[in-house]
Amino acid sequence: MARTLSDRSGRAVALHRQSAIATVRAYIGLGSNQGDSASHLRDAVAELARSPGVAVVAQSGHYRSAPLGYLDQADFLNAVVAIDTALSPAPLLAVMQSIENRHGRARSFPNAPRTLDLDMLLYGSQTINEPDLVVPHPRLTERAFVLAPLHEIAPELRLPDGQGLQAALAAVAAQRVVLLDD
Ligand code: AMP
Repeated sequence: MARTLSDRSGRAVALHRQSAIATVRAYIGLGSNQGDSASHLRDAVAELARSPGVAVVAQSGHYRSAPLGYLDQADFLNAVVAIDTALSPAPLLAVMQSIENRHGRARSFPNAPRTLDLDMLLYGSQTINEPDLVVPHPRLTERAFVLAPLHEIAPELRLPDGQGLQAALAAVAAQRVVLLDD
């Protein structure tokens, strides 16, 4: 049985009987608008939870949102999960992409319909600017379908720039997202 504490830098520390394993709290956004979207989201969370070095600690409900960018496609279902992970950002992204691939994700064009999209929204309070990984996710604060579920599971969270989620949500209040019943 593991329990978690936070050290002074806010990193979660999982305490096991014999060893202390430092983990980082990260947030992953999930989206789908092809196939059985609710199943894609549920299965992806289960697959994340089974991945070595990843513990899912909170998950939001499912939110329905209208597509952005390319409008001639079905509404999306979105959710956000919080994980505590022992993985560095690059291996975590690789786990996320292998889950997307198992769900038949094809990258045809930007904003295209997708069976499953996983975005690394936040990795602790780190800012990452690599060619293949930008964290916080560059469009995090532009999207109510990300901010609403993130606020549901982490209402007190502050973004690395110090902004609170209420203020970020207020800025995208014109975007309609609907929390679905279970
Ligand atoms: P997309 O097709 O929108 O899922 O974008 C996938 C591409 O975005 C991949 O090539 C990733 O390497 C890159 N990427 C950059 N930053 C992130 C992030 N924070 N989360 C997920 N993918 C990212």
